[in-house]
Amino acid sequence: MYALRVAVLLAACVSLASAGTRQLDVEVQPPVTLATELADYRLSEHISPVSYNISLRPYLLESDATKKFTFDGEVWIEIYPSETTSSVHLHSKNLTYSLSEYWQKPATGVAAPTPTRFGANQTNDDTDIVKLTAPTALTAQTTYILHFVYTGLMQDDMHGFYRSSYVDDNNVTKWLGSTQFQTNHARRAFPSFDEPQFKATFDVTLKRHRTFNSASNTRLIASYPSDEEGYYTDVYKTTPKMSTYLLAFIISEFVARKDDNFGVFARPEYYAQTQYPYNVGVQILKEMGDYLDKDYYSMGNDKMDMAAIPDFSAGAMENWGLLTYRERSLLVDDSATTLASRQSIAAVVAHEQAHMWFGDLVTCKWWSYTWLNEGFARYFQYFGTAMVEKDWELEKQFVVDQVQSVMAMDSTNATNPLSDENTYTPAHLSRMFNSISYNKGASFIRMIKHTMGEEFFRTALQDYLKKYEYQPSVPEYLLGAWQAKWPNSSYNDSSEAIFKSFTTQVGYPLINAELASDGLSVRFTQKRFLLKENDGADADLKYTVPISYTTSETTTKFANSTPKFILKPDVATTVSFTPAIKWIVANVQQTGYYRVNYTESNWHAIHQVLNTADWGGVHENNRAQIVDDLFNLARAGNITYNLTLDVIEYLETETNYIPWTSAFNGFSYLTIRLGNDTSDFGTYIQSLTNKAYNQLGFNETSSDTALDIYLRTKILSWACRYGSADCISKAKGYFQSLTTVPKNIRATVYCVGLREGGATEFQALYDKFKAETVATEETLLQNSFGCVKTQALIEKVFDLILSDEIRKQDKSSVLSTLYTENNENVSPVFALVTQKYEQLADAMGGYSAVATVISNIAARFTTQQQLTDLQNFNRNYGSKFGTSQATLTSAEETVQENLNWAAAKLGVFRSYLANYRSGSAMVNAFSAISLLLVSLVTMLRH
Ligand SMILES: [Zn+2]
Repeated sequence: MYALRVAVLLAACVSLASAGTRQLDVEVQPPVTLATELADYRLSEHISPVSYNISLRPYLLESDATKKFTFDGEVWIEIYPSETTSSVHLHSKNLTYSLSEYWQKPATGVAAPTPTRFGANQTNDDTDIVKLTAPTALTAQTTYILHFVYTGLMQDDMHGFYRSSYVDDNNVTKWLGSTQFQTNHARRAFPSFDEPQFKATFDVTLKRHRTFNSASNTRLIASYPSDEEGYYTDVYKTTPKMSTYLLAFIISEFVARKDDNFGVFARPEYYAQTQYPYNVGVQILKEMGDYLDKDYYSMGNDKMDMAAIPDFSAGAMENWGLLTYRERSLLVDDSATTLASRQSIAAVVAHEQAHMWFGDLVTCKWWSYTWLNEGFARYFQYFGTAMVEKDWELEKQFVVDQVQSVMAMDSTNATNPLSDENTYTPAHLSRMFNSISYNKGASFIRMIKHTMGEEFFRTALQDYLKKYEYQPSVPEYLLGAWQAKWPNSSYNDSSEAIFKSFTTQVGYPLINAELASDGLSVRFTQKRFLLKENDGADADLKYTVPISYTTSETTTKFANSTPKFILKPDVATTVSFTPAIKWIVANVQQTGYYRVNYTESNWHAIHQVLNTADWGGVHENNRAQIVDDLFNLARAGNITYNLTLDVIEYLETETNYIPWTSAFNGFSYLTIRLGNDTSDFGTYIQSLTNKAYNQLGFNETSSDTALDIYLRTKILSWACRYGSADCISKAKGYFQSLTTVPKNIRATVYCVGLREGGATEFQALYDKFKAETVATEETLLQNSFGCVKTQALIEKVFDLILSDEIRKQDKSSVLSTLYTENNENVSPVFALVTQKYEQLADAMGGYSAVATVISNIAARFTTQQQLTDLQNFNRNYGSKFGTSQATLTSAEETVQENLNWAAAKLGVFRSYLANYRSGSAMVNAFSAISLLLVSLVTMLRH
């Protein structure tokens, strides 16, 4: 699954450039006390399903009357008990049964015996487990058939077999049925052993009205008129042996761009937008098969389709052979879709296709090991896309998007280990789809690749897939596969310790690399990196860490990322150098999952190198690492803000997207804390970005790289937001002619238009939104709405969010722009959310979503009054939020921590900005005089 979270971001264009990959979210802890015992959430293993034969008939027509948005179901499940038992436990949710029976499977050619009805059953609403009692016991090692006839609901909550809709070109609402079964929703479509370890084959039959067509995981093998007038029965080929959460079906009026085995489905109006996903999908699937030495079509499913679904809860889903996506995560219009969105679409396609091997063929045994699926999918999201789209420098983007973003979350007590044995309840399951499984999983996998070397790593993965195909997997299997191919020269005896210390423990180390004053040695030690003191996190954890480094005297500089040694827990390692070195930088290209601190003189030496031509040859990943580590070390109190701000002044010369992304992420935290008083920061950031701003401007050129285009988006966004008169005036100029704004600067132009404008500008964008036929552009437009600043317009956007005009799947992201785009909006939006929290809960589908919104807004509070407002709200209405009340309470703690942090540290930042202002004013005056002199000289020459 491609998990989407509410990204709390500073600027709309930032969120588009990173396209949902960044996850600076508030992680919600599941409740501690539960009515049901944790073990009760799991099925026992004494009955294994062998195959399912499922037949479904949805009701989607107006003429279906009271049956509309329900479905009829019938399923035969072949099971094999390993011990004699009279109780059959399986999952079922919101299904109503008219028949539940079983019989022993007869030998081929023998008639089936008379079925036996199941006796009384008992359903647990917490666990969704139905306990059926067999009047006569099922004998061990004997095959039985379970048979159920039932009805179910097609709800609009985007889970199970659900309903979705769109309005076609003739203004007619079209309904469709689609599925989302991960993590635990197959049970809403058919009774099932709904855990990933219970793999079986599936035969699917779908009955549809003639105006619809259907799709499922495998190839359609028969379609014939059914006994019901106007209906057809579609029969699908048996699937490979797979988990329940990977089954899928769609009943719709979609059309497909297709060849014999690969297709892209979308609503008819969007057919033209299926060309790019078709092209890139075919290529990535081929490249992945080559890399893993296992062709997709050889794995038991001879077709692959991808479908764009109007309402979709996740970003995308890896159903075997029928990948489903949000429309904006799949469809591309060459004239309107930005490069960032195109990249994101290719990346999501690669992510889902990588799951065909990591997830579908070899599957995590239980959601405790979600990272065995999602870590690899996230890894190939970058490295698989890069096999086809070679100009996007994805291996560099990986560092800022993945490694650095998860490190922030993995350094507080709110984190969890990659392999988390404490995983039982639905709340636990959804937690496992957080940035630990995705970003940290992928970052850990990349660290192992650099430790083993690419070729050993690759053949180890090939062996892993061959050995465990069609089976569930656990982390030990992956470790074993890596160890079998681990080169002796690369610290084989530490492989298990490295693996365990990063997968079973939370967090990561801060490596202290202490260069001796004579330059002849460096002493390496470690300590867990924690952002906050005393938040309950275990500060004593130690890790086994592959360490790479380069020094002022290393000839290969930043090219060689192979670790030089393994730092062991509780052991300091001292490395000697002759001749003496002037500086050291550890974690080459940020291939390791750790931060580094140095002596103050080493930091200053790094600063000096960065100020030389071409940044002294320091790799852009390491420039980004230096910036990110400096911000976080200062925030945690390991170094002073003055040191951080001193070294990052080098950014005045920086023109690369990678380090600038780290810088903007660091500044985001600080600017939120500044609240409404950002004028000194405005002067500072304009001066810092001056070179990049002048070099990139508003106009794209043919020599621009992808990263230049992304950097332009960011620089313009920050310059305009923080008051650059030139930027604002140019952006407003573009806004005058909305139909001709170049696509890659649209986010900035739309946002500036609304921030600096009023009702007229809002109406112009709103009209464009209502007429829009490209999903990516529609998303960009609705995510710009939040840039408004007047109370009347803030209320207008808020009402839009409450209405059906913004789809449920998009409400939280549109709402987040309303308080992230302008610091001044934080209090007004908090007031609206708390006044209308009941309506909002209704619109967003529950109180937990509203609690998350309140918590995200509160994370931006800067005053005592705001804290008091939150406390008052919680006291008066908190109990209405049920289990999500904990989210509200912990939001109070976060606000208090932020206020404490600001009281202790913000003063340093403010006085730095004030001094910088006077300093830069002098520099600017000086440049003005120089410019005047140059013009005079030029004039005299003529
Ligand atoms: Zn995924």
